[in-house]
Amino acid sequence: MSNSFQEDSHQHQTANEEFTNQLGSIFAKLPEKIDIFLFTQKGEENVFSQTARHVIQAFEGLSPKIHFEEFDLDHEMARKWNVTTSPTILFNPGQYAIRWLGAPMGEEGRTFLEILMLIGIGSSKLTDQSLHVIKKIDTPRAIKVFVSATCPYCPQQAVNAVKAAIEKPDLISLEIIDIQCRQELAHEYSAHSVPQTFANEVLIGMGAQSEELFMLSLQKLQQETLFIPEIEAELVETDLVIVGGGPAGLTAGIYAVRSGLKAALIERGALGGQVATTPVVENYPGFTQVGGKTLVDIMVSHALEYVQIFQGEEVISIQPGDPITISTSRRRFESRAVLLATGASHSHLGVPGESRLSGRGVSYCSTCDGPLFKGGKVIMVGGGNSAVTEVLHLHNIGVQVTLVHRRDSLRAQEHLTKNLFENRIPILWNTEVKEIRGTRGVEDVLLLNNQTGETTSFETEGVFIAIGYKPEVSLVKKLGVELTEDGFIKRDSRHRTNIPGIYSAGDVEGGYKQIVTAAGMGSEAALAIFEDLINPYWKQQPT
Ligand SMILES: Cc1cc2nc3c(=O)[nH]c(=O)nc-3n(C[C@H](O)[C@H](O)[C@H](O)COP(=O)(O)OP(=O)(O)OC[C@H]3O[C@@H](n4cnc5c(N)ncnc54)[C@H](O)[C@@H]3O)c2cc1C
Repeated sequence: MSNSFQEDSHQHQTANEEFTNQLGSIFAKLPEKIDIFLFTQKGEENVFSQTARHVIQAFEGLSPKIHFEEFDLDHEMARKWNVTTSPTILFNPGQYAIRWLGAPMGEEGRTFLEILMLIGIGSSKLTDQSLHVIKKIDTPRAIKVFVSATCPYCPQQAVNAVKAAIEKPDLISLEIIDIQCRQELAHEYSAHSVPQTFANEVLIGMGAQSEELFMLSLQKLQQETLFIPEIEAELVETDLVIVGGGPAGLTAGIYAVRSGLKAALIERGALGGQVATTPVVENYPGFTQVGGKTLVDIMVSHALEYVQIFQGEEVISIQPGDPITISTSRRRFESRAVLLATGASHSHLGVPGESRLSGRGVSYCSTCDGPLFKGGKVIMVGGGNSAVTEVLHLHNIGVQVTLVHRRDSLRAQEHLTKNLFENRIPILWNTEVKEIRGTRGVEDVLLLNNQTGETTSFETEGVFIAIGYKPEVSLVKKLGVELTEDGFIKRDSRHRTNIPGIYSAGDVEGGYKQIVTAAGMGSEAALAIFEDLINPYWKQQPT
């Protein structure tokens, strides 16, 4: 063993011990006791029961405030709390109706920790805007949130539901359902994409919502898309507001604050942007191979050293001026400059059946939804780097995947293509998807061979789509920011848009669309903004 390896593992162990001690002292200060009951089937030892037990025991060891008991399904406690499946976890069942069907694995560990903290504090910690909405709920709500261990968006949605169940325990009950552990429930609800949220059996959320939007959807019992604050929003004053927490925004945050600016970063979904759902990254300097989520965690913890991050808030309007006013679902910001690092979102095929079956077998995120199709048969549509990366990921987790590409060659990097061929993944060349069919879920697709004109049906349980990305410019269109002919933000060499004080960086500007280029553009833009704020170009008199 080399010295550096020994040093690394020693540092790792010390960091772990420090983290455990910190967590222990946080739990020690929590005012409320936390009861966790785990129900398992006698004699059954599967990965879910074992993980649930190990995770709970690890937390129990942190503080005497956490009390853990395990019961068989035929124990009277199971009858008392109406528990029939294994594993099921209940939290302070005398007080709250929160149950977890599965085990807190992977990303779900974040949700588990938040549940314990909120129960320990004895408060939902909802924002004023959310409290205003949830107060209007006066009839019962039974929430089901479908999640998976590999979904970075799921904790945000599950925690929204936990907060609701803690705020109104008399009316709101919650089941967090792991789609891998409880596949039959996922199929029953056709929840083939996560997170997916039902209340009183009505779909109220597809994907992660901001806390306020979740509460509004829960109150109205329908999927709401816009939250307009009804009460006076809090005001934050700053030098720079960065919209978007992908590599461009996170890097800009580091550079801006290090330059001496006061900066706030606003992210509506998962931090890391597209990288959060990238299975593996092999071209970011310093890492020969790194999981997208791991890279995000490293970037986010670095950014947090400098910039204040407002996560789970969507910027809904920007009003130019001096100062510029930025409104989110939660508060108002007044800022001297705004950096638009809103990135890109996936393109749609635009064929019949696609939107109807979205979340019912049609998916744009193999990292999130791939596990549900393990052992099953799916197609991946596309022929670029993203499609090939995602095909390889699905193949590696045991999904039987066929690549469907409308041309006769791929646009992916050679290294990825080689990997695809070596793994003998079937490819349908010159083939276009014309329709996605099925009633409750995807059953087959109608394929057209664009060389022969032949149309065939191809049976499949899932359709993953990776056909490119379009810039996320909905916000700036309303603002009057000029776009290029291709629809990207038009800017000068200093990342200035046509509106004074408004800048852009990353994929939203077009170009190579890589993590390293987005990060580079974020740093350039932040430095340019710093220089402009010292000497605002829009206030200079023409000579
Ligand atoms: C499957 C896949 C694999 C990839 N593999 C690689 C790879 O191996 N190597 C590589 O270099 N690149 C890869 N990329 C590309 C890379 O991820 C992107 O180029 C990079 O993430 C762009 O960064 P960005 O910060 O510009 O935008 P994004 O990463 O798109 O981040 C933008 C963020 O802005 C947020 N946002 C948008 N509008 C609002 C709003 N109104 N309010 C608040 N927040 C908002 C979004 O939620 C998002 O989080 C991959 C991409 C995908 C999808």
